[in-house]
Amino acid sequence: MAANIPDQEELSALAESTMARLGVQVPQGEHVGCTPVNGGAISRLAHADVSSVDEAVQRAQDAFRAWRRVPAPARGALVKRWGELLTEHKDDLATLVSLEVGKITSEARGEVQEMIDVCDFAVGLSRQLYGRTMPSERPGHRLMETWHPLGVVGVISAFNFPAAVWSWNTAVALVCGDPVIWKPSELTPLTSLACAATLQRAIAEHAAPTAISQVIIGGADVGRALVEHAGVALLSATGSTRMGRAVGPLVAERFGRSLLELGGNNAAVVTPSADLDLTVRGIVFSAAGTAGQRCTTMRRVIAHRSVADELTERLVSVYERLPIGNPMTEGTLVGPLIHRGAYEGMQSAVATATGEGGSLVAGGGRVFEDQAPHAYYVQPAIVRTAEQSPIVSRETFAPLLYVLPYDEFDEAIAINNDVPHGLSSSVFTNDQAEAELFVSDEGSDCGIVNVNIGTSGAEIGGAFGGEKETGGGRESGSDAWRAYMRRATNTVNFSGELPLAQGVDFTV
Ligand code: NAD
Repeated sequence: MAANIPDQEELSALAESTMARLGVQVPQGEHVGCTPVNGGAISRLAHADVSSVDEAVQRAQDAFRAWRRVPAPARGALVKRWGELLTEHKDDLATLVSLEVGKITSEARGEVQEMIDVCDFAVGLSRQLYGRTMPSERPGHRLMETWHPLGVVGVISAFNFPAAVWSWNTAVALVCGDPVIWKPSELTPLTSLACAATLQRAIAEHAAPTAISQVIIGGADVGRALVEHAGVALLSATGSTRMGRAVGPLVAERFGRSLLELGGNNAAVVTPSADLDLTVRGIVFSAAGTAGQRCTTMRRVIAHRSVADELTERLVSVYERLPIGNPMTEGTLVGPLIHRGAYEGMQSAVATATGEGGSLVAGGGRVFEDQAPHAYYVQPAIVRTAEQSPIVSRETFAPLLYVLPYDEFDEAIAINNDVPHGLSSSVFTNDQAEAELFVSDEGSDCGIVNVNIGTSGAEIGGAFGGEKETGGGRESGSDAWRAYMRRATNTVNFSGELPLAQGVDFTV
């Protein structure tokens, strides 16, 4: 297996030339940004300090007063132009995603495609921010709801979707009439600056207020300042459950609105009637794709005892052939982990699971250590285990898949649900009753519940998010836009009388 890992000079030059082609100035400073491809430095940036948050919020509030008066379809026209610019720069933006996150080229391009798709969605939405009318109980009265721009939206994003998550929020927030302040992951500054620059071009072409989009490069302290700022109407935070646990109460304390998109521990149930060819492909993409670093990565397979051995053998055979290496080389399917901490987390989880009686049946080892001593390439791992122990119930953000047996379908559903997270889930079955039960009230308790498809790779048209320790937020498609707007209920009296609701008599 050849890793084809480029040397430092090549990676630095690629980062520099890509930023130059995108016309983005990088503010030089002392914070070193590394690429997981070989672990070397590709950026040295200045970080903003906490005081810059207050200034950004002031600017955003000024921009809000102007932007909310622009008709929603005209706001949509700006987002349409942004989508065109993203299409024009798709390859360069994808290169930055590969360099900073280690995603293989097709997944990095897929992430930019997701941004383009959500722009399309938001353009259509800009003519569909529907309110309802309801029959009033009083004669000569109209009862209706209207939707209005909410205010400044703060977005905190995770390293593993350094572009798409911000765009889900931003495309929708902009058509809803809200300015956005973005605090991206400190691990992906170049991607953030480049993405923000494409939007600034659309803003300039439409002569819209510059401050409807701002990006602040900094660490968790800057994120916290955004979280605590009373001028931020909606705080949308994507990242670990640990981060959400810190952020949620702080926003609640100031009666702000929060939208939390946190961790996942996603499972597939594989039943006796499942088409195993399709199942194996679905599992491998969801479990090993993106080197196991998606929030929707499949981390557990709950297999009927009658198919568990054959399924595991087939998975192991595919895992042994997975091409690991430079994510920008054609044919590679598994790139590096983000950093040493991720590698150590995976090693520790494997050691705990095997120490508790689980058996490691595939992968788990580090590869290409000689060629890239500061990068962390691993063989995706499979551990067979008899039960769902505490380590299996935890999210380990790496390509580590547990295979557990079940006997009765109800038991499989219970195992699926018996973890703290509630993001994504799948059932592989050709039994209609099982499929229906899994998606029913008594089935999976997750925000995403699939049949005969893996847990990852959601489309933007649906609302994205999950329950329990995943945070409860919904982003992207469907009616997720409502979180970005203020709802008003209006009663309009054209009767010339003043009848009170519920028949109350208050005649003086
Ligand atoms: P992380 O929690 O370490 O960091 C996420 C972001 O939060 C970063 O920008 C970080 O600077 C910021 N942050 C951290 N602590 C903060 C605090 N106390 N106050 C304010 N900001 C703070 O997560 P990560 O390692 O970048 O990403 C991986 C995690 O994100 C995984 O758990 C994954 O499941 C989750 N994730 C969830 C979704 C989803 O939509 N549900 C999507 C992507 C990633």
